Amino acid sequence: MLGEATNPKSADVIVIGAGVAGLVCARRLLRAGLRVLVLEKSAGLGGRLATRRVEHLGQTVPVDHGAQYLTADSDGFHRWVKELLGLGLLTEWTRSLHVLDRKGLRPEHPNEEKPRYICPQGMTMLAKHLAAPLSVHTQTRVVGLKSLATTWQVQAENGQCYEAAALVAAIPAPQLLPLLREKIPPADSLLSLLGSAEYQPCLAVLAGYSKDTPPPPWKGIKCLEDPMLAWLGLDSSKRPQPLSPVVVLHGGAEWSSLYLEAGPPELEKAGRELLAHAAKHLDPWLASPQWMQVHRWRYALPLETMGLASLGTRIPAAEGLPLVCAGDSCAGGRVEGAWLSGQDAAKTLLEMLGGSER
Ligand SMILES: Cc1cc2nc3c(=O)[nH]c(=O)nc-3n(C[C@H](O)[C@H](O)[C@H](O)COP(=O)(O)OP(=O)(O)OC[C@H]3O[C@@H](n4cnc5c(N)ncnc54)[C@H](O)[C@@H]3O)c2cc1C
Repeated sequence: MLGEATNPKSADVIVIGAGVAGLVCARRLLRAGLRVLVLEKSAGLGGRLATRRVEHLGQTVPVDHGAQYLTADSDGFHRWVKELLGLGLLTEWTRSLHVLDRKGLRPEHPNEEKPRYICPQGMTMLAKHLAAPLSVHTQTRVVGLKSLATTWQVQAENGQCYEAAALVAAIPAPQLLPLLREKIPPADSLLSLLGSAEYQPCLAVLAGYSKDTPPPPWKGIKCLEDPMLAWLGLDSSKRPQPLSPVVVLHGGAEWSSLYLEAGPPELEKAGRELLAHAAKHLDPWLASPQWMQVHRWRYALPLETMGLASLGTRIPAAEGLPLVCAGDSCAGGRVEGAWLSGQDAAKTLLEMLGGSER
């Protein structure tokens, strides 16, 4: 494997976070000939590009509870999407969503139509594809950073310690800040930029229905002007030969924030409340699922974008250790924004290291 570290705990670059931004960045650094190690706190890959396997009518089916679909606006991301369409990893799901507002349910305006892409096997397949050539340590939550004279020392919650000459942090800013305080002088603009990055929470509800449920005429509904419900997606319409409807609902930010510290019984109650709300405004059957699950996203979407695709700085240790921050709060709160940020972070780091891409 190109760039694989001989000592698995040391590398040229450590990337924290195996979301889209971290994985894209790591791949580009690997291609440039660097030894790269990715550290990820969760057991799975992809971060908010997330898929759960759930039991539905006796079968295990994938359900996307984070990012629902991709859109491609920039040339670079569009080229990548085309490559994945060619590999059969991505497919076009729909061009037209529905909109629910005070006037009721309607197809979105033709001006807003555009291809929405999905992975038929679940959105995490993209992350698995990106991670294939990489060395990724999962279940490795980074809890401490030390800047020594010429290396970063990265401490994980599981007691492991890793070393690298450069660091890329591709995790939401509120999770990164506690790790960076005391490493960076308070006057460094990086700290104030990261400090200003706020995220909205989102409660995601997954629900499966019986075989006699009539297939709805919509695939995805953007709910406008509704403080409680932001999105309703027919997840089963992404899968080949669905057995019956499986839906994913996303709560609005304000409503979701009421449940940030809630325990399982309260979350279950909130899930039922959201389904009842959707049933009232759409179809009564939505209130009576065969099964339901709730997932809480504390850092779902950035409120604003920083306007810089990645942020690079040097830690004032003896050699000025490079640190680059990436993620969707830099280049836009979508998968495309995370992808662009990951690309930019790799470019920034390579420039800092004085290298070039092969
Ligand atoms: C509910 C929801 C719906 C969405 N819908 C869409 C959509 O339809 N279309 C779209 O384009 N985008 C959508 N998005 C946004 C999209 O998912 C994100 O913009 C994108 O996935 C962010 O990628 P990222 O790499 O910046 O961050 P993340 O995906 O958050 O990756 C960060 C990774 O870092 C890990 N991590 C965090 N802290 C540590 C630590 N201390 N040590 C090690 N690892 C750590 C996390 O576990 C995570 O895997 C949605 C997001 C949510 C939550």
